[in-house]
Amino acid sequence: MKRRLPWWATAIIVLAIASYSWYQRQPAHAPDFEFEGAAIVIHGGAGVITRENMSPEMEALVRSSLERVLDSGYAALERGENRMDVVVRVLGILESDSLFNAGIGAVVNAEGVAELDASLMDGETKQAGAVAGLRHILHPAALAREVMSHSEHVFMIGEGAETFAQQRGMTLVDNDTFLTHRRHAQYARWAEQHKRGTVGVVLRDREGHLAAGTSTGGMMGKQWGRVGDVPVLGAGTYADDQGAAVSCTGHGEYFIREAVAYQVNARMQFGGLSLADAAHHILFEVLNAEEGQGGLIAIDAQGHAVMEFNSSGMYRGAKGRLKSGSGDVSRYVRIYGEETTEVVLGE
Ligand code: ASP
Repeated sequence: MKRRLPWWATAIIVLAIASYSWYQRQPAHAPDFEFEGAAIVIHGGAGVITRENMSPEMEALVRSSLERVLDSGYAALERGENRMDVVVRVLGILESDSLFNAGIGAVVNAEGVAELDASLMDGETKQAGAVAGLRHILHPAALAREVMSHSEHVFMIGEGAETFAQQRGMTLVDNDTFLTHRRHAQYARWAEQHKRGTVGVVLRDREGHLAAGTSTGGMMGKQWGRVGDVPVLGAGTYADDQGAAVSCTGHGEYFIREAVAYQVNARMQFGGLSLADAAHHILFEVLNAEEGQGGLIAIDAQGHAVMEFNSSGMYRGAKGRLKSGSGDVSRYVRIYGEETTEVVLGE
């Protein structure tokens, strides 16, 4: 006698087929760029960045800062400078720029004190350095590099990290050095603002090796001692030549819990996703604008690069030679969501 499947089993099968074909139809996401040769991508933080809350003067300042950083980093890569030196150089310029929440101009904690975090990682060797809770180091990314290259450790914090910095010949600065008038004014209203931002760089050198680095003051009004995702390797920063170099910005607690920078790599290396699909999935399906607002920049060894975010804007830029282009070097600087600003630079 012929047995028929019960109605619920048929329903499950139909549903499974339908959802599989829906999944198959999901559009693949294109990378923002496909570079050949050396290339650099930077960010200066993601968040509520809209044309309405940005003055034209501020916008011009941010754009020219990002351009300056891209030019300096790209020129160093073209000269064949060591990729980790380029990461430190780029982050160093951004840390000195009071427009961004890293180094000078960093946000402050609930006590009004700047506490800085940074990390960097080499995609070829997997060497890495990270520092957190610094109160007296002008260039936290440079100290992360010292930890990577001149200690037996990967991650150092607070006073111990600052003592190590002195042993390495770095001088300590007063915490007031980091506080600008703008941050003082924001601090006065931090409870409503919870301002944040961060600076980051990912790059591919002339040999095709990857590197990433990130530096931040964290989140405005954070509890003292709080550490965000930025110095946590695999959360805010990660680099692997087999996958991608990634630098994140956003609500750090969510980025730590989802190991975002490593998850991009895992989805690529073990899940077979492209860089663009991996980045999109994490920012829009794992995280979202309410729970895990922020963005990331990433580049893989083939030169695919993304600058993706689920917030209204992200300070960002890239420079390199496009595979499909005329052979000229292009520079991109963007701030808002729907924006395409490109400058093609002659040789
Ligand atoms: N991710 C940083 C933190 O949570 C802040 C930011 O990128 O806006 O410390």
